[in-house]
Amino acid sequence: MAEVLVYVDHVDGAVRKPTLELLTLARRIGEPVAVALGNGAADTAAALAEHGAVRVLTADAPEFADYLVVPKVDALQAAYDAVSPAAVLLPSSAEAKEIAARLAVRIGSGIITDAVDLEAGDQGPVATQSAFAASFTTKSRVSKGVPVITVKPNSAAVEAAPAAGAVEALTVSFSEQATGTKVLSRTPRESTGRPELTEAAIVVSGGRGVNGAENFAVIEALADSLGAAVGASRAAVDAGWYPHTNQVGQTGKSVSPQLYIASGISGAIQHRAGMQTSKTIVAVNKDSEAPIFDLVDYGVVGDLFDVVPQLTEEINTR
Ligand code: FAD
Repeated sequence: MAEVLVYVDHVDGAVRKPTLELLTLARRIGEPVAVALGNGAADTAAALAEHGAVRVLTADAPEFADYLVVPKVDALQAAYDAVSPAAVLLPSSAEAKEIAARLAVRIGSGIITDAVDLEAGDQGPVATQSAFAASFTTKSRVSKGVPVITVKPNSAAVEAAPAAGAVEALTVSFSEQATGTKVLSRTPRESTGRPELTEAAIVVSGGRGVNGAENFAVIEALADSLGAAVGASRAAVDAGWYPHTNQVGQTGKSVSPQLYIASGISGAIQHRAGMQTSKTIVAVNKDSEAPIFDLVDYGVVGDLFDVVPQLTEEINTR
């Protein structure tokens, strides 16, 4: 069976959920070979093996932390050369997408980004994407070279599938470009204690209808009752009510949670672009004609300041 390279997103050895989802998808098209780089790379092996990695290639060097993405591209290319895979899969994080693009250029391959599903096809993997600001759902395959595909978080269920997970050290020689851009400092964002927006199983978002930064407490309370992340429309972000890091949409983040709750959001095409692939969509809007109601599974026509607190209270009592 052909091998499929899976780029591992981890924090000091703790594998992040989108990588485990990638392993589920990788198994549909071949045998996953995971590539883990940087501090704690070897510590990822057990989790990766439990989810189907037949081999785990690891490398650690100061370059991975001290410089921007090129050292990681060098390492992934070394893995690519060593494995000759049928496809390369990466999560759709900002960093991994840059790594994917650079690798695709180097190996002369086509690339598909932000896939939301992946299946085996006669002529290579077929990826499902949401395209043109979510106006279309497309199925595509790479027709040149070995497909490089990035997959959005929450695109597949994590499934355990124990495999050998043999750990092998990857030999990497860094290119001249590797040390071209040095990281001078890193400032971790203050933690809200909520899940990361793009990885959360539930996202609760507020828009212009929230009508003020202080009123976002209503949205946050519902999010906390559900263990959800908080999102915001661009109108709410532009008004300075919520940080841009939480913006959902074409010029914000793209999310695909199990449940997306939009309150006081009209459903403009640019917002839909970032949330339309959510599995279940709920909207609260006082205008029954709001376009968001065209795509919801459940809609509540009402004032969010009446509806959302009642919902929060109901959930908290359960
Ligand atoms: P509005 O469209 O003003 O809708 C507010 C809604 O709240 C209305 O439907 C109203 O009925 C409802 N409402 C008001 N009060 C209440 C209440 N008390 N209870 C219940 N409902 C209430 N937008 C994004 O979101 N993300 C993007 O990434 C993005 N990128 C863009 C990129 C470009 C190039 C452009 C041109 C636009 C982009 N936009 C984006 C902006 C987008 O076009 C819309 O302007 C924006 O999404 C509107 O945000 P909204 O739904 O919160 O506000």
